[in-house]
Amino acid sequence: MVALRSDRFAERVLWHEGVEWPQSDPTPLPPAADVVVVGGGYAGLSAARTFAELGHETVLLEADPIGTGASTRNGGMVIPELKAGPEKLVKSYGDLGRRLHLEVNEAFDHVEALIRDRGIDCDYSRTGQLFLAHSTRVVDTLRETAAEHRRSGEDVRFLGADDLSSEIGSRVFPAGILFERTGSLQPAKFHAALARMAIGAGASVHANTRATAIIDSSGGSILDTSGGTIRAHNVLIATNATADGLLPQLKRRVVPVGSFIIATEVLDPAMAASISPRGRMMVDSRNLLAYWRLTPDGRLAFGGRKSLGPTSVASAADFLYESMLRVHPQLTGTGIDFAWGGDVAMTVDRMPHVGRFGNAWYLTGCNGSGVALMPWLGSRLASAIHGDTAFPAFSELRHRPVPLDRFRSRWLPLVGRWYAHVDRAT
Ligand SMILES: Cc1cc2nc3c(=O)[nH]c(=O)nc-3n(C[C@H](O)[C@H](O)[C@H](O)COP(=O)(O)OP(=O)(O)OC[C@H]3O[C@@H](n4cnc5c(N)ncnc54)[C@H](O)[C@@H]3O)c2cc1C
Repeated sequence: MVALRSDRFAERVLWHEGVEWPQSDPTPLPPAADVVVVGGGYAGLSAARTFAELGHETVLLEADPIGTGASTRNGGMVIPELKAGPEKLVKSYGDLGRRLHLEVNEAFDHVEALIRDRGIDCDYSRTGQLFLAHSTRVVDTLRETAAEHRRSGEDVRFLGADDLSSEIGSRVFPAGILFERTGSLQPAKFHAALARMAIGAGASVHANTRATAIIDSSGGSILDTSGGTIRAHNVLIATNATADGLLPQLKRRVVPVGSFIIATEVLDPAMAASISPRGRMMVDSRNLLAYWRLTPDGRLAFGGRKSLGPTSVASAADFLYESMLRVHPQLTGTGIDFAWGGDVAMTVDRMPHVGRFGNAWYLTGCNGSGVALMPWLGSRLASAIHGDTAFPAFSELRHRPVPLDRFRSRWLPLVGRWYAHVDRAT
């Protein structure tokens, strides 16, 4: 189906509208710094802020203009969960699994505290999240998942089809789980605030400056960049899905996968309330999942991916529009004003990772869920490198390379097709 595009439609990011980012440092790169952070998303900015607050002379390199990466393009869902629930994590990783679950919750608390204590204006609200069964065949699994979370003390409820009617204006879901402990924010406003805080703490943020090579040297590293060479005692790579040739070992461990979002015209308030009476964050249970929410300005933002292969924003918009009408047919005749995409960093075990190659530290692997985790991981890794705290539990996970990496452009679309087949069959 071809999406109904409004007169105002453009392939651009809704969240960028009206948001102002601080100026990049106009001075040339210094020849040396205590710390160089590569990547100006939530993770890199949070690491740079923390290093600067701890008294380090800190330089952040961002390849593009500030505010271009996934951190300003996401769904804004602040989710304190990994793909696996608390008991499955313990089953897979023993005590490490318990600590991973604690850390992702600590990350959520960190983001809420940051927004509250630093007065960040990013439309934050503790909205809760509905995880919706895409088929009757997964209802028992969802019931057990809800029980698993309740056993670990979380405020999580299984909802049958009747209970769902007060939560969502859609009849296509036979059941769902309500996670009360989920928030929503305006991603670009949050990102711009993190950028201001990093600069305010004394970090020097250089936009349009790509790091191209790292060479280990005694007592640190030397980085080649598009703005010249810089030496550093410590290097932290926070490039997430954009793992390029900078650290070849990292590139072999991260698979960038596109995710796309459309946003409708501003809805009539009664229509918005009929779709999502409580403003929940919505996610369905498919492998190629869909996610959607009301925006602070009263639109429906609907995201997902059609495949794991290369996809244009235009074809993703058509696919998402059709998916949106399947879930909410009451939106028939409503146009879309915005469509955009970005890359998420997938890993083999679908877990975030923290590690070190040579003298360079890195963190990556949001696997589509990094709004809560990445700001905390960036900050925590910085304070661990400084020596103030232990390294995050995520650094204890084995970070395996992607199998048959050289052929990934051939097998990735096939995996996507397999996921779509499984989604249809379950
Ligand atoms: C469409 C979409 C929807 C999403 N929805 C959600 C959601 O609702 N909830 C959720 O929790 N997560 C979501 N995510 C994931 C979330 O956005 C990410 O986990 C998070 O933003 C990652 O932050 P980051 O700082 O690690 O990476 P990024 O924000 O991607 O920042 C990395 C930066 O590194 C820069 N860079 C790369 N290479 C170099 C280099 N060589 N030199 C200098 N700079 C470089 C890039 O330009 C980029 O700005 C979504 C992602 C996408 C794309």
